[in-house]
Amino acid sequence: MHDLNNLLLNIYEKFKNINDGHLATYIPELAKANSADFGISIVTLEGKTYGAGNCKKNFTLQSVSKPFTYALALEDHGREFIRSKIGVEPTGDAFNSLIELEEQSHRPYNPMINSGAIAASSFIKGKDAIERLQRILDLFGSFAGHPLQVDHQVFLSEKKTAHRNRAIAHLLKHFGVIDADIEESLDLYFQQCSILSNTEDLAMMAATLAGGGIQPITKKQVISRDYIRDLLSLMFTCGMYDSSGEWAYSVGLPAKSGVSGGLLVVVPGKMGIGVYSPLLDSHGHSIRGVKAIEELTHSLNLNVFSAHA
Ligand code: GLU
Repeated sequence: MHDLNNLLLNIYEKFKNINDGHLATYIPELAKANSADFGISIVTLEGKTYGAGNCKKNFTLQSVSKPFTYALALEDHGREFIRSKIGVEPTGDAFNSLIELEEQSHRPYNPMINSGAIAASSFIKGKDAIERLQRILDLFGSFAGHPLQVDHQVFLSEKKTAHRNRAIAHLLKHFGVIDADIEESLDLYFQQCSILSNTEDLAMMAATLAGGGIQPITKKQVISRDYIRDLLSLMFTCGMYDSSGEWAYSVGLPAKSGVSGGLLVVVPGKMGIGVYSPLLDSHGHSIRGVKAIEELTHSLNLNVFSAHA
């Protein structure tokens, strides 16, 4: 496996000079990212780490947080209740669409888009906002293997400008999907999106999912094994928003991307992969990140279906 570092370095070198795409500017703090940053990490189920590029550079999780908060909502309320509130259907609409709430089912299509993720955040148990955030930080930290923190500048930047997410939360309340206080639920959602991580953290979190919920270093079972398949199926079908079908076809692995440029990929039973590069395509995915994952997964033949092809 020591060749993995060479492979990652080659991939890094191959794509580092691609400067297509744009930074996320709708959250003003994210527009300050350094577009040259690019890192890629792998963590195996045994906890071995490989990497190339800026693997220690911190960025905020943004939507990469969504599967993990959904996991906590499942732990808090069970599958039946959560399924009654948030669907499991992919959507062809953008990540921040509110069309399905208004026109169709009146509930979020799935927990990987903003409407479903805001609903999931509203279901997190705790006696007050501080305890709810702490429970999210504790869970995310147990996936990463060390404590994680919120970037308050990014949190405040999103909070001030999130008119569309605020509209989504009001619709969720209007249609009886959420019960909790709207502003508190939104704050928790913005805070989870503003948790700082680097590509090694993403790879470690992904490796924990790849290993049935057992953190590769601490060996702790951080989430019920029973919920892993819920998370991985949803990441497979919905994790890449309105290009999830394209991703399932070209890469064939559960994944979740975020608008800061992070991308987390799970290779079930084998490894976790994390990539970061902030220049985005029109769907909101890291351009270098997607190219790097395509190259890596093709080189190692990692598509979940390739073993049977
Ligand atoms: N916090 C971001 C938002 O709600 C997350 C979106 C994303 O990463 O795709 O707009």
